[in-house]
Amino acid sequence: MNVVPTPLATLGPPFAEQVPTTPLPAPYWVAWNGGLAQTLGLSSIPSLEYLDILAGQTTKPAYCSVYAGHQFGYWAGQLGDGRAHSLGQLKGTLDSWEIQLKGAGPTPFSRRGDGRAVLRSSIREYLASEAMAGLGIPTTRALAITGSNLTIWREQPETAAIVTRLAPSFIRFGHFEHFAAQGDEAALHQLVHAVTAHDPLLSHNTAHAALTLLTQATLRTAELIACWQAVGFCHGVLNTDNMSILGLTLDYGPFGFMDRYIGTHVCNHSDTHGRYAYDQQPHVGLWNCSILAQSLQSLIRDDTAIEGILSQYGPHYRKAWLQRFSAKLGLMSENSDNASLILSLLTLMEREKVDFTRFFRALSSDDPRSTPPLEKLFKSSGDFVAWWAIYEQRLEQDNTSVDECRQRLLQVNPKYVLRNHLAELTIRSARQGDFTMIDTLKQVLDSPYEEHPDHEEWAADPPPWSQQLSISCSS
Ligand code: AMP
Ligand code: MG
Repeated sequence: MNVVPTPLATLGPPFAEQVPTTPLPAPYWVAWNGGLAQTLGLSSIPSLEYLDILAGQTTKPAYCSVYAGHQFGYWAGQLGDGRAHSLGQLKGTLDSWEIQLKGAGPTPFSRRGDGRAVLRSSIREYLASEAMAGLGIPTTRALAITGSNLTIWREQPETAAIVTRLAPSFIRFGHFEHFAAQGDEAALHQLVHAVTAHDPLLSHNTAHAALTLLTQATLRTAELIACWQAVGFCHGVLNTDNMSILGLTLDYGPFGFMDRYIGTHVCNHSDTHGRYAYDQQPHVGLWNCSILAQSLQSLIRDDTAIEGILSQYGPHYRKAWLQRFSAKLGLMSENSDNASLILSLLTLMEREKVDFTRFFRALSSDDPRSTPPLEKLFKSSGDFVAWWAIYEQRLEQDNTSVDECRQRLLQVNPKYVLRNHLAELTIRSARQGDFTMIDTLKQVLDSPYEEHPDHEEWAADPPPWSQQLSISCSS
């Protein structure tokens, strides 16, 4: 694995410190993403050499970086890579990827944590990263999971794992918050340039690098959250330290894809006030961008310009949301009437307890109105029949019909998402030593818009026990 130091590692302290990894004892493979490996110029077959490295037995220097953050709306002070070691930057065939080991032991930023990650959360992160990539949503990626029988204590004893994750850069909003809190303008400048190295859009604007960085981060965050809303994804912990400066979905913890549509759905059991509920994500995205803006204030020094950038968030988000949801209904144009049609549909879906993914997928079937769950709605809800009549009129205005837009709908309404119960079933069999479901489920999630006849059950309504699953911050 030929890696070069990341920009932060090159800067050294105070940005990043060299920290040895603590290898997993007697490691074994849990998952290897052969397809991704190939695009990176690595072998699609996992080797013993890779196993050693990705289980933390590496002779090359590893680095951990310092960041800070606002957690659940409050300043949390200094945080940092408490259980992530950066191995360096790997040049893929097209891009360059930072490689991180998550769970390779304590670091100077671990605070009271053990620096480890459990098998359960590593499987969730691995599958979710690749599911998001399959959906076409910006995300960090996952290359592998290595495991060990080492016992890790959370609420109960679990076993340890390391997930190897990749991103062009793992720089977070929190990195900027840390140096802004120190009043260290020179460091902020260096950080901006560290991001610029990854981003052609920024490198063309070096004169106004901080301004461009804030603009790009704001627009990308708005876009990202519109993508999440359109697939019913809730991040769960949208603290500023979990916000990627490149607008990637980052730090998969107590996330969830909604089953039944509930606007106020909270996927994280630890989020008792619902700060990060599904319908709050767009507002939180802007709140987080305004924290980033404050952190860059000393570089930009132009409050009007900052306000101007932040004021683009709302329109940009609404445009992206309208585009995505219009497409989900097969509406050609982003007619402003579409918004009320979409919102009234969501209200009906919530009232009728309709499954989000299955509803939209059913629209693209041969005979949508006799396909579950639409069939049930047509039998039970006069309001829904009335909504459908308006919907058909709108399609007619576009000179199209449900029939004609079927192919388009199939491209935008996934059949498969990583529902909680699917992750849970995968984890249960992995705990018994059977890792095959990780691979097969990942293969299906790699192409979630395709049919996978052997795995119809993964697109079905979730079993009743899935409602009892409680996903918390514990990982
Ligand atoms: P998270 O809630 O996972 O985004 O983590 C917030 C902060 O806690 C980050 O600085 C993490 O590196 C750190 N952290 C979370 N879990 C652990 C752990 N088990 N050991 C050390 N640090 C951790
Ligand atoms: Mg985090």
